[in-house]
Order: sequence, then structure tokens, then C-alpha cells
Amino acid sequence: MTHPGTFENSSRSKRREEIREIRIVERSPCLVEPRRFKVTAKVDKPLEHVLPILYLALPSSNYSEAHGSLSFLRNGRLVGIFSDGRINASCFEDESEAKALLEDLKRLINKALEYYEEHGKPSQELLELRNKVSPLEIYKHLPKTNCGACGEQGCFAFAVKLLNGSRTLDECPEIQKPKYSEDRRYLSHMLQPIKLE
Ligand code: SF4
Repeated sequence: MTHPGTFENSSRSKRREEIREIRIVERSPCLVEPRRFKVTAKVDKPLEHVLPILYLALPSSNYSEAHGSLSFLRNGRLVGIFSDGRINASCFEDESEAKALLEDLKRLINKALEYYEEHGKPSQELLELRNKVSPLEIYKHLPKTNCGACGEQGCFAFAVKLLNGSRTLDECPEIQKPKYSEDRRYLSHMLQPIKLE
């Protein structure tokens, strides 16, 4: 049986809810870079049960259950996914970039749907653990030697970048040492309680 915190791409599972297409319904100028454009797209089913799963799988995401929304950076693009099936993404130079990102999101959402079919809703306990994530909470579990081996000025700067998704735990050589194995496990679980990819 698969552990609820992990995900294995299983060919045996027939995905009843799989989405087949993310359709672009609107294209408009990007506010920050008017020469580029943003897209609004739509999938043909509600996504409210997918959002908490993606929140637990994407370390830099922000989730609002009240607003039914999830936002995160994906390949340098800001993405918003909404419980009614809408998806916003920006900013693109051409149509092929937008289509490539939407194809990637389709794959990610289908993995989250498959996770949901196998495990159901994530537990409140996992969501509370993920809600606790902050630079300070991460910093508490880093080695705090400020050795600079990760290329950052110190552990707190590294913590901030772990949270925004621009660095990964593997990039701190110090925490790979056996004496930090508990902290490494805790951070890995807290930052990404569900692994979809
Ligand atoms: S390599 Fe690790 S211990 Fe060293 S400064 Fe970076 S985060 Fe801190």
C-alpha cells in the first residue's frame, strides 16, 4: 500500500476524473510587462479537492480555503488555480510557452486527482503542519552554522529561499551529515508533506 505522503505513478489505477484539456478562454496584456500576455484557462470540472493536495505538494504555494484559490510559481510563471476550474497564468511571450505551461499543469493536476482517488482528502494534521512553515520555523531546523557552503550569506537567507522554492534542501551540504538526519527528515516532510513528482 502506498503511504499517504508519497505518490507512485501507477498504471493500474484508472483515473475516472482525469482532465484531458485545459482550454484557454482569455488572453490579455500582462500588467507588469505589457508586451507579454497572461492567460485565463478553464478545465471542465471543479478542482476544490485538488487544491489542498497541490498545496501540500508545492513548497512555495499559498492556499486559501475560504477563497478557493491556490497560487504558486511554476517555471518562473505566476499561476493561480481556483476551485471552479479556472486557471490564471502569466506572463508569456508567445502561445507555445503558454501551452507548454498548461500541459505541465494538466499533468500535475492529474497526479493530484489520482492521489485524491487513492487517499482521499489530506488530513487536517498535514495541513496544519504545512501552515506552520515560515522562514523562522525552517531556520530552527537548519544547522545554523552560517557556513556559506550553499552560496547564501547564512542559514536564514537559505531558509527564505527554501520557502520560495528557489533552493532545495539538497543544496545545504551541512544538513546531509548524519547528525542532522532528524532535522532533514522533519524539514523535508514539513515543506512537502505530499510528493507528487
Ligand atoms: S550550507 Fe547549510 S549550514 Fe551552511 S549556510 Fe547554507 S544553509 Fe546554513
